[in-house]
Amino acid sequence: MPEYEPVVGMECHAELLTNSKMFCGCKNEFGGEPNTRCCPICLGMPGALPVMNREAVNHVIRTALALNCEITRDAKFDRKNYFYPDLPKGYQISEYDKPIGVKGWLDIEVDGQVKRIHIRRVHLEEDTGKLFHVAGDESFVDLNRSGVPLMEIVTEFPPDIHSADEARAYLMKLRTILTFIGVCDGKMEEGSLRCEPNVSIREIGTHILGTKTEIKNLNSFRAVQKGIEFEVERQAELTEAGEKIVQETRGWNDAKQITFSQRSKEGEQEYRYFPEPDLLPLEISDDWIEQIRLNMPELPDSRKARIISEYGLSAYDAAYLIEEKELVDFFEETAKLSGDAKLSANWIMSDLARLLNTDNTPIQNSPISPAHLAEMVKLINDGTISGKIAKTLIEEMFTTSIAPGLIVEDKGWKTIKDTGAIEALVEKVMADNPAIISDIKEKGLMQKKGFLVGQVMKASQGKADPQDVNRIIDEKLIG
Ligand code: ADP
Ligand code: MG
Ligand code: ZN
Repeated sequence: MPEYEPVVGMECHAELLTNSKMFCGCKNEFGGEPNTRCCPICLGMPGALPVMNREAVNHVIRTALALNCEITRDAKFDRKNYFYPDLPKGYQISEYDKPIGVKGWLDIEVDGQVKRIHIRRVHLEEDTGKLFHVAGDESFVDLNRSGVPLMEIVTEFPPDIHSADEARAYLMKLRTILTFIGVCDGKMEEGSLRCEPNVSIREIGTHILGTKTEIKNLNSFRAVQKGIEFEVERQAELTEAGEKIVQETRGWNDAKQITFSQRSKEGEQEYRYFPEPDLLPLEISDDWIEQIRLNMPELPDSRKARIISEYGLSAYDAAYLIEEKELVDFFEETAKLSGDAKLSANWIMSDLARLLNTDNTPIQNSPISPAHLAEMVKLINDGTISGKIAKTLIEEMFTTSIAPGLIVEDKGWKTIKDTGAIEALVEKVMADNPAIISDIKEKGLMQKKGFLVGQVMKASQGKADPQDVNRIIDEKLIG
């Protein structure tokens, strides 16, 4: 069987973080009582006129700049005509031939290799309502989402992405950029960020593109990866069997982990695009672009490079922390307060991450503040508590939100500095284990010393310093 290479183009939709909807004053917010955030404009009543939301345009320009795009100065809106019950106007206002951003790129890293993924366009449109199909034959429509500002980002043709891993990395990077610049909350589970991969395969070494299918309804990174993998496999099997791939839209069944045929793809001409007569072209000036460029926050790539050089973190740690803006913010605050970036990063990436994950809590709602975590790191570094105690302490901090100093005081968790107290514990352990002592003293089985150290540490409830314990045991064995 010849080897096939996946070819993947990504179409991603991001709902924009604005106060109001794209062309009316209705609130732009997820959820809510169905059909309560609607007005004649977003309900598509005859004669209602759209008013452009400038903040949404700003967000798209900001995204286009962050994605290294050229800005189309005379961008405009067009009508994309089609009928569907979640689209009351019978058309969607979108951008057809003059999208706000064109010819951009972002870099991804897969297996330590950096690869540039080119982006064809970034445009602004409006979201549709939502349909709910309930058991039986009934369907309901909720138009709260109708008219929510939606940005579409499409990768370049011919595609650069050639594996499910690269597609996933692209989506993760895109999400990171969008959330860093504050244009989208990136919540895939709420549909704020949605992605439709276009997938085809070709024999390795050939350059002609195969027929593609488009996968819909993928709402997690994992689903994107698995959906593409499934589709590549399915297409390879069909090709091997001498069958043709049908160009179509396929859905994703997450429970069965398979794609299934939904509908054959409409051609562009069926949408009958024409310029939106109720809106003027945009006329994006140099000043407008400059204003947005000046307010651009630090982007993920440069922030990653900075935290590596400024805090001496490894590329691995930096890549982990940079994935979420709130996470890297939390890290920087903790590192500044604690004065020990590496140890702060370790605790954030291991114990804190585990606790947050188990509790299903995002870092921005962490019951442990950066100040408290920094205080804990300092308690470890100045020898007040052992690393072992800190493992218990952080759990306590997580459940109570109490400052670590107070907990340590209250629980009596300070390291035992009093060598007399440790000596007493050592003597007791030695007296309790005569067989071990004779193994060490008579047979020279030094490896058995570890057992004694362990017993003393246990007797001290983890509060003795293992170095002190070792030293005192050595003294007693000789003495
Ligand atoms: P459509 O109009 O069907 O949505 P587009 O031309 O907008 O298709 O392309 C959508 C995405 O699919 C783009 O990223 C494009 O580069 C990519 N693409 C186009 N042809 C193929 C193909 N044969 N295989 C994989 N991806 C493709
Ligand atoms: Mg498409
Ligand atoms: Zn409205």
